[in-house]
Amino acid sequence: MKNIRVNIVLTVAALAVLAGAVSLAARSSRGQTQSPKTDTRVKPTVLITERGPTAKENASAAFAAAAAQNAVLENELSWKFGGKEQHGWYLYHSLIGRILNTQGDAAPTDFAAALAVWQKNKGLSPSGVLDEDSLRAFVSGWQSNRLKNRAYAEPDQLVTAPASDFFDPERVADLRRVERSTYAAYKQMVAAAIADPTLNLAHTPQGELAPAEKYFKIVSAFRSREYQDELRRQSPNAGSAGLAVNSPHSTGRALDFYVGGDPVDTRDANRAIQVKTPVYQWLVRNAERFGFRPYFYEPWHWEYVK
Ligand SMILES: [Zn+2]
Repeated sequence: MKNIRVNIVLTVAALAVLAGAVSLAARSSRGQTQSPKTDTRVKPTVLITERGPTAKENASAAFAAAAAQNAVLENELSWKFGGKEQHGWYLYHSLIGRILNTQGDAAPTDFAAALAVWQKNKGLSPSGVLDEDSLRAFVSGWQSNRLKNRAYAEPDQLVTAPASDFFDPERVADLRRVERSTYAAYKQMVAAAIADPTLNLAHTPQGELAPAEKYFKIVSAFRSREYQDELRRQSPNAGSAGLAVNSPHSTGRALDFYVGGDPVDTRDANRAIQVKTPVYQWLVRNAERFGFRPYFYEPWHWEYVK
């Protein structure tokens, strides 16, 4: 960077000298027909004003204030979801980055600049500040991509997955049922995850998750009405962000995967661990191409929407 700056300074200095020479030449040749060469010699002065770094530095400066506000709002924005007070949007940073097409380590000013473009497309004020209006727009986008048909699964639509696919290897057969195409998509996705060396998943020679591997194992699949009622009785205060009356799990197309931490605990501290795991980050980047969409609030919960 330093070298580039030095080069730019030197180039500017050289061009200044050149421009001086050009104007001297013009003055000394006053009254004569202007040489066509003058135009080509002046051109580099125009080029320098359009140089990438200068434009980028301008954009950075323009979004520095927005980036400073985002640094606060990321942890402190007060909003409500599922009848509960929520703090910030840091738990959804990966999901937001996926939409904005920014990397996790993007500079805060680049994040704000990308956000402003998205805001403009959404008809929001392109401030680059991730305020409540913008967060709500992200949330409604995620929610609109979830399963629309929540019809209860017919028995012939369900297959019983082997216990080796489950986080609890002793899970009973009744609780291992999954909608047929969802299960096929799950197996394809897991095969792709196993093939990704960056995840380093323990697997068998046959390409299945190893018994000792926890990540990507299914925590919960199809839930019968009776089982869902039972879960609700066990945790009556879960609220609407917790156990839904009309659960997507009753379709057989919703799967809870192990993505780290306490498997299905919505406390912020637990979700903060989960959203940082390589497996969750991989799901954010890749699940969609296998037909799975996230429930933003529960890092473990994915729905097969194809
Ligand atoms: Zn779930």
